[in-house]
Amino acid sequence: MPETLIPIDLSKAPADQPVPPHNRWHPEIPPVVSVRPGAVFRVECLDWTGGQIGNNDSANDIRDVDLLQVHYLSGPIRVEGAEPGDLLVVDILDIGPLPGAQWGFNGIFARDNGGGFLTDYFPEARKAIFDFEGIYARSRHIPGVRFAGIPHPGLIGTAPSQQLLDRWNRRERELLARDPERIPPLALPPDPESALLGQVKGAAFDRIAREAARTVPGRENGGNCDIKNLSRGSRIYLPVFIPGANLSLGDLHFSQGDGEITFCGAIEMAGFVDLHVDVIKGGMNKYPNANPIFEPGPVEPRYTRYLVFEGISVTENDRQTYLDAHVAYRRACLNAIDYLQQFGYTGEQAYMILGTAPVEGRISGIVDIPNAVCTLYVPMEIFEFDIRPSADGPRVEDRGQVAVTT
Ligand code: ZN
Repeated sequence: MPETLIPIDLSKAPADQPVPPHNRWHPEIPPVVSVRPGAVFRVECLDWTGGQIGNNDSANDIRDVDLLQVHYLSGPIRVEGAEPGDLLVVDILDIGPLPGAQWGFNGIFARDNGGGFLTDYFPEARKAIFDFEGIYARSRHIPGVRFAGIPHPGLIGTAPSQQLLDRWNRRERELLARDPERIPPLALPPDPESALLGQVKGAAFDRIAREAARTVPGRENGGNCDIKNLSRGSRIYLPVFIPGANLSLGDLHFSQGDGEITFCGAIEMAGFVDLHVDVIKGGMNKYPNANPIFEPGPVEPRYTRYLVFEGISVTENDRQTYLDAHVAYRRACLNAIDYLQQFGYTGEQAYMILGTAPVEGRISGIVDIPNAVCTLYVPMEIFEFDIRPSADGPRVEDRGQVAVTT
């Protein structure tokens, strides 16, 4: 087992961890460890909420979650010799849950506290707990489904330079200003409330907390991209913006469907990641790219039989849009949810299946004016019964319900 450079203690609050985590992006958050190119090491991570969600049958903690605390990240990890303009090469050698914590959660956030892709249809807080059996996940809140996980860090990235941070803050404030009262908000500007900045101390804390970017969106540094295929064996090429690169990661997922549609849309867990790092000197000039690139690893669940749901870029009330893939993906998801409800699942259960199982989402057509076509590939082998259309019709059963608020 590689040396654990950043341990966590699940019995302690984020602020009391042996190595302090951080939950904002800023170039002045100091590194907590330093490694050489070629190093192999283990990093442990809190779940993204820092332990706010419990393994129980109430969604009250989802309803009341403090989202200003997210995401708790392990790092920054300084890589010796890395300079602005280099590419940081990060191999995910292994990833998994921690011993004694073989469970994870999925949440539908309340519309007024986080929301999600289908928040207009599912505005109330809901929760499902998943138990891990080796590579498999199953949930007492969603019977009849079991699948192999595709574990990955939802969030991995390098620290921004001050110049890049200023660009993020400018453009996201411009978006926010278009409709400042909207719920959920259009963007999340810096907010010193609940900011945790690792080893930043003293007079600098207030200034950095006011400037530091929230970790919610993915950006040029990688960050919260929630790409399920960044699983075991993947190699990521991250741009380096400051000396040492300052790599941070967290938001570990046991599994997730493409789009992470419930927003807390994966099986969220605390866990470990084994990493190997290297540096390509001058890589950003040799391979100019505005965003990270990556190679998926060789280890993924092998599902071969899918039922595929199509969605077109026409809204639910029959308004035609022009090639809007966001609308088309929503319609594909809603079609799949309607379909799964015919077997006795509630809409919330179906929504959470799509958020957690290794469901493939694709833009199938983006040129056939005026309809974009998005498709949602639901692996049929994850169900303990046949979900294909048949002459007998769907086998309806009472399949219970996910955890609700009380
Ligand atoms: Zn997550």
